[in-house]
Amino acid sequence: MIIVMKADASPEQISKVAEQVENIGLKPHVIKGSERTVIAVVGDEQDATVSAMETVPGVARVLPILAPYKVASREVQQEQTVVTVGPLAVGGGNVGVIAGPCSVESREQILDSARAVFASGAAGLRGGAFKPRTSPYSFQGLKEEGLKLLAEARAETGQAVVTEVVSPEDVDLVARYADVLQIGARNMQNYRLLEAVGQCDKAVLLKRGPAATVDEMLLAAEYILDGGNRQVMLCERGIRTFESHTRFTLPLATVPWLQARTHLPVVVDPSHGTGHAALVPSMAAAAVAAGADGLIIEVHPDPQNAASDGGQTLDFIAFEKTMAMCRRVAEAVGRQLN
Ligand code: PEP
Ligand code: MN
Repeated sequence: MIIVMKADASPEQISKVAEQVENIGLKPHVIKGSERTVIAVVGDEQDATVSAMETVPGVARVLPILAPYKVASREVQQEQTVVTVGPLAVGGGNVGVIAGPCSVESREQILDSARAVFASGAAGLRGGAFKPRTSPYSFQGLKEEGLKLLAEARAETGQAVVTEVVSPEDVDLVARYADVLQIGARNMQNYRLLEAVGQCDKAVLLKRGPAATVDEMLLAAEYILDGGNRQVMLCERGIRTFESHTRFTLPLATVPWLQARTHLPVVVDPSHGTGHAALVPSMAAAAVAAGADGLIIEVHPDPQNAASDGGQTLDFIAFEKTMAMCRRVAEAVGRQLN
């Protein structure tokens, strides 16, 4: 249910309603918009009791939330969420760019990458320190050492550091160094991990599972929002289909579809989405044209010798050119790249 407060409802009336919601065993999420406050009521609703709230002072009306996800839905919050972390702004007309290697490999590799992608205009720096690899014999990441190197890069460029957390036990450690916690595709439905990042005060980049529907992704985001963390970005990174000419199939219709249903910003990953460096620039530009609020792109000083995902990784020159093209497309669709 959504309890829509009157435009002139007082803060006391708003807290009183939230308190009453708690008293009947439900959870209130108070969402302050520029014109009105709404209270999203989540939990196992007993309609009759919530509907009776219409008579409480300050309440304008009580409506059902039709979508299966609640706090993530546009029905609850019409204004777009803009995730801002340091110089990185994702949403609200900003196309936030996060770039860097798949994995942090060495001090020189991550510092060179940070400098190069920052010079080309990426306000976010990516790099995996904890890597979820398909094979247990593949490089698993530098772990805390990698996090320290990311923090060192941030100290120099000022970029927002985006890095993956793969298990609930690591959330505190990763949050100590990172600005944005990435939930990888393989973990989109790891509900204990989602709950753990929901308790955290760092922004989250939630990647779509390769076999997950967009409704399932929104319900995964709901776990994080329900924990109290509202700084959530959704990421389309491609899904598994019968098609094999690309590593995954990158459905860009997801971008406007999601934007119509959720206020959360939508980021596109053309690197994992295609699996081929040659396809990344076009799909990055296409994502911007489709209205993406952000891009996450793999870039490495020497892609051929990268420890992971080299085949889909741009070198510095290709990244610079991709940024120039995306900037022109962004301008054409009334947005700005940062
Ligand atoms: C990554 O970003 O390097 C990664 C592992 O991505 P995904 O979870 O989308 O496969
Ligand atoms: Mn990767």
